[in-house]
Amino acid sequence: MTDLPLVSHFIDGKAANGASTRTSPVFNPATGRVTKNVQLASTADVGAAVASAAAAFPAWRDTSLAKRQSIMFNFRELLNARKGDLANILTAEHGKVTDDAIGEITRGLEVVEFAIGMPHLMKGDYSENVSTGVDVYSLRQPLGVVGIISPFNFPAMVPLWFFPIAIAAGNTVILKPSEKDPSASNWLAELFTEAGLPAGVFNVVHGDKEAVDALLVHPDVQSISFVGSTPIAKYIYETAAHHGKRVQALGGAKNHMLVLPDADLDLAADAAVNAGFGSAGERCMAISVIVAVEPVADELIAKITQRMTGLKVGDGMRGCDMGPLITQAHRDKVASYIDIAIADGADVVVDGRGIDVDGEASGFWLGPTLFDKVSTDSAVYQDEIFGPVLSVIRVASYTEGLDLINASQYGNGTAIFTNDGGAARRFQNEVQAGMIGINVPIPVPVAYHSFGGWKNSLFGDAKAYGPAGVSFFTQEKAVTSRWLDPSHGGINLGFPQNS
Ligand code: NAD
Repeated sequence: MTDLPLVSHFIDGKAANGASTRTSPVFNPATGRVTKNVQLASTADVGAAVASAAAAFPAWRDTSLAKRQSIMFNFRELLNARKGDLANILTAEHGKVTDDAIGEITRGLEVVEFAIGMPHLMKGDYSENVSTGVDVYSLRQPLGVVGIISPFNFPAMVPLWFFPIAIAAGNTVILKPSEKDPSASNWLAELFTEAGLPAGVFNVVHGDKEAVDALLVHPDVQSISFVGSTPIAKYIYETAAHHGKRVQALGGAKNHMLVLPDADLDLAADAAVNAGFGSAGERCMAISVIVAVEPVADELIAKITQRMTGLKVGDGMRGCDMGPLITQAHRDKVASYIDIAIADGADVVVDGRGIDVDGEASGFWLGPTLFDKVSTDSAVYQDEIFGPVLSVIRVASYTEGLDLINASQYGNGTAIFTNDGGAARRFQNEVQAGMIGINVPIPVPVAYHSFGGWKNSLFGDAKAYGPAGVSFFTQEKAVTSRWLDPSHGGINLGFPQNS
C-alpha cells in the first residue's frame, strides 16, 4: 500500500506535503481496490495554508477587475477544453458514469461563466445629492480568506459552486474536499494556476474532522461554505458562527415527487427512474420518494419497474447507466434498508441486491431498488438513504401529498408532475422547499439563480452561487461623501438629517 500514489495538499501555487503523517485510502469503487492514499492535514497544516491565503489576499484584492476577469476567462477555456480528463478522475474515484461526470463538470462550468461577469455583479449603487451637496454610494468588497468544505458526491461541481465566485470577487480560498475523492480539487487548482492565478489565491487542504475543525476556528478565516450531511452541516453552522464567521451550510435531503392523477405517467416514470437512480442515487437532488395520488400508483409502478429492468449497472468507464456506491460501508448501509423495508411492512418491488454488473465483483455494487407502500414511520422514509432506492407512498389527494411533503424535516428540492397548471401553481406556492420542479425532477437552478434548500437542508440564510453567492462572498460598504466648501461649516450636535 505504501507504493501507491499519495495525494498531497496544494498550497501557495504548488503541491505541498503537510507535516501530518496521517493518510486515508482512496478507492476505485468499481473495483473495490485502493488506488492511492490522501494526506490528512493537521491543524498546523491548515495554518500553513491559511497563512499562504492571507498573504496572497492584499494583492489579489487589489488586482484590477479586468485582470481578474481575464484569468477567470482563461480558466473557463482550459476547463472546457480538458473536462474529459477531469471526468475520468471523477469516475475513477467516485464511480459515477462518464456521461454523468461530464454533466457535473458542465454544471460547474456554468458558475465559472457566471463569475466571469463579476465586474458587473460587484457594481455598487450611487445616489447623488441625498442631502444638499452630499452623495451616498455603496461598494462591494471581498471578505478575505474563505473556507469551503465539500462532500464526496460532486467532487468537481460543488467546489465549483463556490470558489469561482469567491475568487472572482477578490477573496482567497482554502478548499477542503471530501477525503473519499480528493484528486479533482488538486486538478482544478493546478488548472487555475495554469490560467494565471497567483500563488496562494486557491489552496487545497485534504483532511478529515481535524482539518475541518481547524478551519472553523481559525481567526483569519472569514467565512465557511459547507455542503454535506445534515448533522455535520448543523455542527459546522453552529461552530463557525460561534467563532464569528459568515456561514452557509447546505445539508441533506429527502426529495419528493408528487404525481397527480392527470400526469403523463410515461414521462413521470422516465423522470422517476432518471432522478432516482442517476449517479446511483448519490445526489442531494435525487428523487427518493414518489408520492402517488391514487388511482395512479399501480400503473406508475408498473411503468417504473419496466424501465428499471433495462438499466445497465457497472463500471462507469464502460458506458453503463449507473455506477457503484462510494464505499463498501455505504453500499452495505444502503442495502440494509431493504431488510428494514421488509420488517416495516413495505412491498419490495425490485431488490437491487445480487444484480448482474458489468464490472469486477469486488466493486461496491447495489442495483436499483423500488419499495411500495412505505410507511412514513419507517426509517426507509425518515432517513436520507443516499443510494439507488426509490420509495412509493400512496395518498388519496393532492392535499394529503402536500401535507406529507411539508412535514418532512428536509426541504431541499421537490417536484410535481401534472398537466394542470392551476395545481402546479398552487403547489409552488404551498410547498415548503427551496427548489421546485414543475414536470422537472431535478430542479437544480442555473448559475444565475441560487441553489439551496429550506429547513434542515440549509443552515444559515445564504444559498449557493447566483446573486446569493455574490452577496455571501462580498461585504457592502456605504460611503457618505461631501466635498467641503465654506457653506458647510458650523457646529450642530444633532443627529445628521438631510436637507
Ligand atoms: P459528509 O457530511 O459526511 O461530509 C461532508 C464534508 O464534511 C467532507 O469534507 C467531510 O470530510 C467533512 N466531515 C465529515 N465528518 C465530519 C465531522 N464529524 N466533522 C467535521 N467535518 C466532517 O457528507 P458526504 O457523505 O461527503 O456527502 C453526502 C451528503 O452531502 C448527503 O447528506 C447529501 O445530501 C449532502 N449534499 C447536500 C447538497 C446540498 O446542496 N444540500 C449537495 C451535495 C451533497
